[in-house]
Amino acid sequence: MPDRHALVTGANRGLGLEFVRQLLAAGDRVVAACRRPGKATALNTLAGEHPGRLHVLPLDVADPKSQLELARELPLVLGEDDAGAPGRLDLLINNAGVLHSGERFGALTAANFEDSFRTNALGPLLLTQALAPLLCDGAKVANLSSELGSIASTSRFGTPSYNLSKAAQNMATVLLARALAERGIIVVALHPGWVRTEMGGAGAELEPAEAVAGLLRTVAGATAADSGRFLDRSGAPVEW
Ligand code: NDP
Repeated sequence: MPDRHALVTGANRGLGLEFVRQLLAAGDRVVAACRRPGKATALNTLAGEHPGRLHVLPLDVADPKSQLELARELPLVLGEDDAGAPGRLDLLINNAGVLHSGERFGALTAANFEDSFRTNALGPLLLTQALAPLLCDGAKVANLSSELGSIASTSRFGTPSYNLSKAAQNMATVLLARALAERGIIVVALHPGWVRTEMGGAGAELEPAEAVAGLLRTVAGATAADSGRFLDRSGAPVEW
């Protein structure tokens, strides 16, 4: 689809940046949202290479005020479609996420949980709510979750602030799927695999390019029956 509009959060590095690259390569128009556009060197270089097709806008997903500012600014970037109707988003990728490593039982503090919940759980939920009027009917929303948010797969203590916030995000995915079903909007939770980014670390199994290619295939193949489901990059279900 040549004139699709996609928005990616946390787009300045890691999986977010790779989503932007692959969506542009597929011919989409992309809004890349990140906390500090002035410092997003890779994104700004890409914007220069794709004039008019990549817009870089500020967004702190943990800050509802910043979400509303993005929602106000977005119509200017989306413009109008061929029929003169306001442009809409076809795809929202809630990718931004945070992991506070080094947590251990006996030394847990509220601060990491608060930050992780605001970013990983409330971020996708409230941003999707703020942008819902700008999503076209039949749009897709992809929430970057993690197997570490799966209660069924948890076999070790892990990183509680991350585990809990991704489990909460999974519930947000299901609720968003219900809330947006009447507009035909499909909402999925995605597990990318273990990927070599700052979060995943150098020892991870996958390159971002491979993970993102799989995730975009899964999103493209998702139907109404998949809305509210938790899927991996091959499209297989992940246990909640
Ligand atoms: P990185 O740590 O490499 O990148 C995280 C991105 O999120 C950065 O762009 C960062 O921006 C952004 N971000 C963090 N907090 C905020 C915020 N409050 N507002 C806006 N942007 C924010 O992580 P990955 O690329 O590896 O992960 C992307 C997603 O995939 C995450 O949701 C993660 O949980 C998930 N995931 C990753 C896995 C992996 O193995 N890598 C495995 C499973 C899931 P900034 O530069 O400003 O900090």
